[in-house]
Amino acid sequence: MERDDLRIETGFLRLEASTACQLKCPTCPTGSGEIHKYIGRGFLRKDQFRAFLEQDRGKTRMIELSNYGEIFLNPQLLDILKIASEFGVALTVRNGANLNNVREEVLEGVVQYGVRSIVCSIDGASQQTYELYRRNGDFDRVIANIRKINEFKKKHHSPYPKLAWQFVIFGHNEHEITAARRMAAELGMEFRPKLSWSDDISPVQNHEAVLRDSGLQATTREHFQEKSKTVYLSDMCDQLWEMPQVNYDGRVLGCCVNYWEDFGGNLFENYDAALNGEKIRYARGMLTGRLPARDDNPCTRCDTYKARAQLGAWVHPYSPRKRLKRTAKRLLAFVDRLRCRFALGA
Ligand code: SF4
Repeated sequence: MERDDLRIETGFLRLEASTACQLKCPTCPTGSGEIHKYIGRGFLRKDQFRAFLEQDRGKTRMIELSNYGEIFLNPQLLDILKIASEFGVALTVRNGANLNNVREEVLEGVVQYGVRSIVCSIDGASQQTYELYRRNGDFDRVIANIRKINEFKKKHHSPYPKLAWQFVIFGHNEHEITAARRMAAELGMEFRPKLSWSDDISPVQNHEAVLRDSGLQATTREHFQEKSKTVYLSDMCDQLWEMPQVNYDGRVLGCCVNYWEDFGGNLFENYDAALNGEKIRYARGMLTGRLPARDDNPCTRCDTYKARAQLGAWVHPYSPRKRLKRTAKRLLAFVDRLRCRFALGA
């Protein structure tokens, strides 16, 4: 009998803590309000989070909290961090936070409760450049908040959270890549340059210099696709198998890109029905190239799916490489849990 690889069981989830954001970044569907038309503007509630972890009985080991909004605007975030720590669930903020407005006790909480990592989106090395994209953002305040986290890490003798500086490359900030990399090193942050979503806003000017300063292999997503014959960041589709995205209210969005339609089911009501409902299983079939596109499926409207279909670049969720990656991820999560307990003296 053929294994039903359209069903999943995973200990890893993406659960958005906030779909609200105070910045107005051009091209961002959160800043324009586009995402709020469908997934709403709201926050993960601590009572729902606790109830979910109680009924989950230890199945979930790691949760990513960030996606389209700014998690630090969630007024119950400190309680959420505490609850996750009580249940031994590792939290990450890898998709990104802007860190413009954070209460001091929350900055201490991310250290005390062992948030594993925070990626901070800072596309510039000065206020002048930073605010051109991160509109309403305050560069100095962000840097001050990072310094405070570092002080709390020292105070609590903790290596967590690991910090990374994400720098989306535009024409208006390409001259500051090197300075930002240097500042990141001074702040103990990993530096991660990233290609912009589109060339519609401030495209890269000096391609040669950007390749040299960023260390990336391309300066635009189209350029990347041409060179590699793969879709840029297309591994996001793997999230349907490995780490499905859930909205703050429990609706299943599947991956971090989708904000236009949910897959049905609600994580807070029924875990299995939510992560293995008919629509999301059908999407897994589409993404592996075994089922045709269907109009009622969110993936059908996605540019990544369209590019996959054009290139015939389907997902192979059970390839030896992916199996190995999943095993390594589980092992690392186990080691991480031990290491964190030791580091925090829990
Ligand atoms: S095709 Fe698009 S919506 Fe579907 S999983 Fe991939 S990135 Fe997400």
